[in-house]
Formats: sequence, C-alpha cells, structure tokens
Amino acid sequence: MILYVVFLVIIRYMGTKLYIKTYGCQMNEYDSQKTLEILKQDPTVEETSNPEDADIILLNTCSIREKAEEKVYSELGRLRKLKIENPNLKIGVGGCVASQEGKNIFKRAPYVDLIFGPQTIHKVPSLLSKKNKIEAVDVSFPIEEKFDALPAPEATGTSSFVSIMEGCSKYCSFCVVPYTRGDEVSRKPEQIFDEVARLIEQGVSEIVFVGQNVNSYEYSFNGRMLRLSDLIEVTGSIDGVERIRYTTSHPLDMTDDLIEVYGHVPQLVSHLHLPVQSGSNSILTRMKRNYSRELYIDVIEKLKLVRPNIKVSSDFIVGFPGETDADFQQTMNLIEEVQFDASFSFIYSARPGTPASKLHDATPLAEKKERLNILQNRMDELQTFYSDALAGTIQRCLVTGISRKNIKQLQARTECNRVVNFDFQNINILGKLVDINITKAYQRSLVGTILNSEELQSA
Ligand code: SF4
Repeated sequence: MILYVVFLVIIRYMGTKLYIKTYGCQMNEYDSQKTLEILKQDPTVEETSNPEDADIILLNTCSIREKAEEKVYSELGRLRKLKIENPNLKIGVGGCVASQEGKNIFKRAPYVDLIFGPQTIHKVPSLLSKKNKIEAVDVSFPIEEKFDALPAPEATGTSSFVSIMEGCSKYCSFCVVPYTRGDEVSRKPEQIFDEVARLIEQGVSEIVFVGQNVNSYEYSFNGRMLRLSDLIEVTGSIDGVERIRYTTSHPLDMTDDLIEVYGHVPQLVSHLHLPVQSGSNSILTRMKRNYSRELYIDVIEKLKLVRPNIKVSSDFIVGFPGETDADFQQTMNLIEEVQFDASFSFIYSARPGTPASKLHDATPLAEKKERLNILQNRMDELQTFYSDALAGTIQRCLVTGISRKNIKQLQARTECNRVVNFDFQNINILGKLVDINITKAYQRSLVGTILNSEELQSA
C-alpha cells in the first residue's frame, strides 16, 4: 500500500502517459477499456496513441491461435528498443498470453516489468508500483473481486460493451480460454444494470453484452434464476436503449427463453453471431462442442420463426485434426443450408495444454489452406450477395460517428452490423436511429442517403 501511494505521488508531479495495445476478442477490448478507466482514476494519467511517448505500455494479449501469441512476442521485440532508450518505461503484459505463459514471458523478454491475468486488471496500479518484477506476477482468477473493483464506466461512443460474465466451462478440446480465464462466473445483475444506466446517461444508445459464453449467463436473484433473456428484457425497458446485441454465444445455450425474447424486445437486433466451427458431427464430437449440426440448424429454424429476417454469422475452424474431405464438405453443405451472412474462419492451430493438441493430425497444411480458401471464397460471395440485397432498401441504422473514409461524412451501422457512410453535417444525430436509403453496396460497407434530412439537420 505504502509503495502504491509513493508511486501515485511520484506520477502526480510528472504526469504519466499510458499506451494500451489490444489483441483478440471483444472481452479483451472491454478489459482494456476498464484498465484505462482504472488507471485514469489518477488524474495525471492520460492515454496516448503513440508507444514512443508512453511511460507505461500495456499489451492486452490473446492466445486463441498460435499466430496471435507470436504477434505479442514480435511486439515485445520492438518495445525492447524503447526500454533501452528509456529505462523508466514500464512494460506490462496482460490477457490470455500472460495467463498461459506466466513467468516464461520474463525469460523470453526480460525487460517486461509486470504480468497480469484477465481477471486481475484491477490490480494493475499496485503491480505497477512494485520494483521487483517477479513479485508483480499475478495471474489468479478472483473474477468477482475484479467486477467489484471496476470504476464507474466511461462511455467512448454511442455503442458500449457491458461484460455480464467471465470465463468458460465448456472446455472445447481446442480452446485455451477455460485455462486462461477460468470457469464461468456470472456478474451480479445489479452491477450490470447500474453500468447500463450510467452508459445511457452518457449518451450510449447501443448496449453489447459481452462474455466468453454470454448466453450461459445465470445468476440466482431473489429466489429466481436470471438468464440472458431476463437481462435483455430488463435492458429493453430502459429509456434510451435503442439497440441490444450480445456476443459470443454457444449453440447449446440458445434456450427457448432466449429465442422467445426476439419476439418481444424490438431493440434486440435481427443479427446473431453463433459460432458453429464445423458442419461435421464427427468433428464436432472431436472438438467437444456437445451439439450436432442438426441441433444447430434447429436453433436457426426456431429463431427464424420468431424473427424471419434474422441474419446469422459464424466462426469456422478448418483442418481440425482428423478432418477429412467429407467432413469439410459437410461444413460447406451447412453454409449452403444456413446461408450465413458473414464469418470468421481460420486454419486450426494447436494450443499448448489443450486435449486437441494431442490428436494425430495427418492433413498437410497445403490441403488445409485449400479448404480455407474454398470456404472463404464462398463466404465472400454470400457476404456480397447480402450486401447487394440491401441496395435500394431503407435500413434503420444507428449513427455511430464520423466516417473513417471521409471526415465530411457520418457513419452508421445496420442491424446486421454493416457500416453505412452517408453525407450529413449535424453531429447531434450521433447515437440516434435514422432511416437510410442504401444507394450503393460494397462487400463490407454501404453508402446511403439519410431520410428526413431537413428535419434532422435542425435537430
Ligand atoms: S465455448 Fe469453447 S471455444 Fe468458446 S470460449 Fe468456451 S471453450 Fe472456448
């Protein structure tokens, strides 16, 4: 404690520039934002987008794939030069690579000062104050303690993540998350609603519930088990909430109550990211996903009964150990059957310590690349098809900010999360839902003209 106070006193007079680099999923983005808010409780701490200006550099890492992990070590290699130029620079590694690698990071990059796990971001200020780097290692999992220690949220735009759970207890055979983030823990509902209310007060209009396995949320409250459907229902009744999304979900937890909520919460978007990973039952079993392609299709059909226009995106792993041509064809058939709107797809990469890393893998890399290519080409066609189908329609869009392509334009998002750029001068419409006539479609973005522009211009 004394050391922490001394640390705060020192930086109070010097000012401290903080640079955070985030890798991986929305949970990591959420954790980085929270780490920033925790450190900015000291008013002398300010964020910088330039690592060369920074006094503290934190890498919030991802280890879901080997490539992501290697990127972290490459970045640390670049940061070594900055540490030589400025020995007072503090370098920290957080996130899943920190949990997985622990003190090994000090061996590969001895100039790193602190290592912290995803569940210990609230301890970063005290870890930064320690002199002995070995003492600063902390990759334990006191998840509730982390949630209790988070400061009031700071809105950074019109859309905001709200974490409702951490960790995962599914133990898919290829995944490191249960080992790096621990088993599932759901957050107290009062904390979630308090965070939502504070964000809405600050102008946020889209709430995105995030968690590794967000639809397994369960919290016993006043003798009743609350689920994600309850959180969505209550959030939809809060004034100012225009849109609700959630990610990432597991097909096994798409329960009837969650499907039904699409029928009576209009703010819940008609877009769902539901990772399937493979269309082959034999591969799904080897992945330990605990569902079949039939169950997955059944979930989509039930959803379409409640929301006929719902669009579904997914994740695919290609070249999982033992995947045959016939298995891969099953995945391609599933794509045709579901007609996914978009996807993230990768070649399987073995993660240390996972059961799948011990499976025999006879498929040559060239063959896996070929399969990935086939899958991505088909998904590009589908994505283009859906984007083209939007041209000439009027879409209800949430205005999210200034266009990245042209600072004279604004940017909005459709329900299926496509970016629409449009001419408009009045930034008072940020965070509002507006109707946009889509005039042109590219594969990943759209161009449009806002309706009722005269009325909105004077808003
Ligand atoms: S559901 Fe499976 S893939 Fe998703 S985080 Fe949990 S273990 Fe990993």
